[in-house]
Amino acid sequence: MTTRKKLIAGNWKMHGSHAANAELLAGIAAARPFVAEVAVCVPFPYLSETAVALAGSDIRWGAQDCSAHEQGAYTGEVSAAMLHEFGCRYAIVGHSERRQYHAESDQLVADKAKAALARGVTPIVCVGETLAQREANETEAIVKRQLSAVIHTLAHCAGEMVVAYEPVWAIGTGKTATPAQAQAVHALLRAQLAAATPHAAAMKILYGGSVKPGNAATLFSQPDIDGGLVGGASLKAADFIAICRAAA
Ligand code: PEP
Repeated sequence: MTTRKKLIAGNWKMHGSHAANAELLAGIAAARPFVAEVAVCVPFPYLSETAVALAGSDIRWGAQDCSAHEQGAYTGEVSAAMLHEFGCRYAIVGHSERRQYHAESDQLVADKAKAALARGVTPIVCVGETLAQREANETEAIVKRQLSAVIHTLAHCAGEMVVAYEPVWAIGTGKTATPAQAQAVHALLRAQLAAATPHAAAMKILYGGSVKPGNAATLFSQPDIDGGLVGGASLKAADFIAICRAAA
C-alpha cells in the first residue's frame, strides 16, 4: 500500500494585511513541527513577506491562481515564472470562485495547471459540483469532466499535480461533505487518475469545504483523502494549527 504524506494548504482568499499576516504566519511557524506538509496560499502582494516570514521553516507558500500565459500583454495577470521567483511551491488553479466569478473554463484551468508545472510550481487543481448538480446526480460527471481536461492537457505530467475535491455547496457555507460522501468522490477521482498515469497511487487528493478542527481528523482518516484545502479556518492560527495536527 502506498503511504502518502498528507498536505494541508490554507487558502487565504482575498484576506490579509501586513499586521494580520505577520501574526498568523508567526503563530503557524511556532507550532512546528507538523507531521503533515503545511502550506499557505496567499494573495499575490503578500508573497514576498510570506517568503521572508517563513524563511528557514519547512512551511511552504503558494499563490491562489496563475496565468496560462508565459508573459506578454496580459494586464493584471501573474505568470508562473514570477511565482517561481518568489519561491512559490504551489498555485491553486480552478478554484470554484474563479470558475464562477471569472468564467474560467475547464480548458483554461488546464492551461493554467500546465503553465504552473512548466515553471516548477505544483498546481492544486480544484474540482467540484454545485448543489444543483449534486441534487441532479451529476457529481460524478462534473468532476470527471473537470479533471479530464487537466489530465489530457498535462499528458505525461498529470501525475505531478495535486487535486482538490471541493464541493461548491460546502465552500464557506459551514456545510461539510460527510467523510463517506467525500471519500466516494475521491475514490472516483483516483480511479480516473489511475487510468491516465502510473503515479495515481502516490498523488495527493485534498478535500476542501468547511474543514474545521472538529471535522478534520475524520475526513483525513478516509483512505483517499490526503489532506485539506482550508479556506476560512486557515485565517485563524489556532484553528489552522489544529487542522494541521489532525493530519497525522
Ligand atoms: C476554499 O476556499 O478552498 C475553502 C475550502 O473554503 P472553506 O474552508 O472556507 O469552505
